[in-house]
Amino acid sequence: MKGNTGHFLRVDLSEGSMVTLDPPFDYYRKFIGGAGLAAKLFSEYGNLEIDPLAPDSLLIFALGPFAGLRLSGASRFSAAARSPLTGHWADSSCGGNLAPELRYAGFDGILISGMAPTPSLLVITDSQTTIEPCPELWGLGVEETTALLKKRFGKSYKTLSIGPAGENLVKFACIMNDGHNAFGRAGLGAVMGSKRLKAIVVKSSEKNFLVEDPGACRTLVNELNNKVKESVTASVLRENGTAANLEGGVHLGDVPIRNFTSNFWEEMAEALAGSTLSEKYLKRRSNCAFCNVACKRIVEIDDGPFAIPKGPGPEYETIVAFGSLLGSMDLAATCKAGRICNDMGMDTISCGATIAWAIEAFCNGAIGSDDCNGLNLSWGDMNTVINDVLPSIASKEGALGALLSEGSVAAANRTGAQTMEYAVHAKGLEAPMHDPRGGGHGLALTYAVGHRGACHVSSPMLFMEMGACYYPEIGFDYELDPLSSENKPESAVIGFTIGSLENSSCMCQFADREITIPEWVDLFNVVAGLNWTVEDMMRTGRRIFYLQRLLNAKYGISAFDDQISSRLLTPAIDGAPEGIEIEFEKMKTRFYELMDLDPVTGLPSEKTLRDYDLEAEYKMILGS
Ligand code: SF4
Repeated sequence: MKGNTGHFLRVDLSEGSMVTLDPPFDYYRKFIGGAGLAAKLFSEYGNLEIDPLAPDSLLIFALGPFAGLRLSGASRFSAAARSPLTGHWADSSCGGNLAPELRYAGFDGILISGMAPTPSLLVITDSQTTIEPCPELWGLGVEETTALLKKRFGKSYKTLSIGPAGENLVKFACIMNDGHNAFGRAGLGAVMGSKRLKAIVVKSSEKNFLVEDPGACRTLVNELNNKVKESVTASVLRENGTAANLEGGVHLGDVPIRNFTSNFWEEMAEALAGSTLSEKYLKRRSNCAFCNVACKRIVEIDDGPFAIPKGPGPEYETIVAFGSLLGSMDLAATCKAGRICNDMGMDTISCGATIAWAIEAFCNGAIGSDDCNGLNLSWGDMNTVINDVLPSIASKEGALGALLSEGSVAAANRTGAQTMEYAVHAKGLEAPMHDPRGGGHGLALTYAVGHRGACHVSSPMLFMEMGACYYPEIGFDYELDPLSSENKPESAVIGFTIGSLENSSCMCQFADREITIPEWVDLFNVVAGLNWTVEDMMRTGRRIFYLQRLLNAKYGISAFDDQISSRLLTPAIDGAPEGIEIEFEKMKTRFYELMDLDPVTGLPSEKTLRDYDLEAEYKMILGS
């Protein structure tokens, strides 16, 4: 096996046992790694019938074949499980430094089931693995946990840990790498918490791994690194982070305001912009391992109610989720809210969106102060959000904590039909901070039909509609009009194929925009020895999309669920997209035709299952 090591660590926390699992090479060829291989392994080794928070549920961490290369964007990895937030299949991606370390230690990933008798750590030192009790860490925030782990094991150990939110089974709890890189979405931190697994630490003495063609690999990696480094995208992201284009997004109507009730707020555009963050609070730039884009921010706020010491700063999603979405243009507050969410271990998107739901419900009289621990909620009141609401959610304290810790859809289900209008989501996953009415109508389609729910990284549709990427070798060489449905289903087919390749090879969407289709194929071949053609690679991306749908079907998801909240399909009342309709049903119908999906079940036909070599997976997952 090249690129990959061929070994997964399989851990049963109830038994305290660990064995090595060696998936056949064919699994890597068919599903690559990361999100794709995790779906395959889950379908084979997971108990598909049980609750995501039951002891025997399976939590998977999976690397892509490129983890460990000194290549910009290659150091991400995937976590996957049945989501406690949405109830169906989900994966999440995280950057940072742990993926290369795990590869050098000899593993392509970890499968974890069972529940430890006491809070525990998984320690991986080269090929040595142990489970150690750590009751002293239970209840601590991610920052302190990370600091104590580094003190105990040494700074060279890379860490994955959960905070109090994961321990308390908050449905949108996340898992943090080295304290500030997040497996943010879908509540996988609660799955880890349900297993009483506080942290994983990894260190390898070796810093190398085998690739198929070392010389060709070195040449290609150098070329790609130079290309990425010199690209406009990289220089913009390096200069002002992922919020660099926030101002432009406001003028397009892409940036949600007060829970997606408005698409324009002029003063906010500059107040929350990436350039403003650079001017006011940036101390230095930071990066995931080996990435020369360095889109991450290190910030410090010296004084005021939201002062924070020097440390990780917010990216775009956090700035908007704790800024305009909550009716605030206080940039310092977004920095502080992001820091608290990281420390408590909560997804900033779902957390901000659930608070936005609560503020709107409160302002419209659908919930009262009795439901809110005696608080009055209002747009822009960041003192209350930061000092009262966030701690209540993480600890599930009082009526407010109990209500909001389940996410916006569950909260709406508990409080009455009127409030479902305020839950902006697809398949139970709160929408990210790009409003399809202004950001691009194709996003509405991809939010709806993506396996995870409202997700902006299951495909590069956002970049495709912005004109930030083209793939002429596979027919995507045309401009898209963001505010139209024209060519969106066709683009979504390409987008999901590329997105599956990105999320399964675990390449960063910010760094890989410059990689052409022939370069993608070369990379897979010189690293992992897959001997692919363009057609082989594209078939693999599409196969992974279909496999994820099979898993969702197991959890009752059908064509009916390929939908987004009505709020996102109601014409905007202001800003650039004012009054423009999204032709959602037309796009969805055409996408279903192009992907050969049944209009009722949402599943591919028998012929497509055969063509994509998925008949065995269909039988294994759906049992007939
Ligand atoms: S572009 Fe940013 S998020 Fe992506 S790998 Fe580089 S530093 Fe990490």
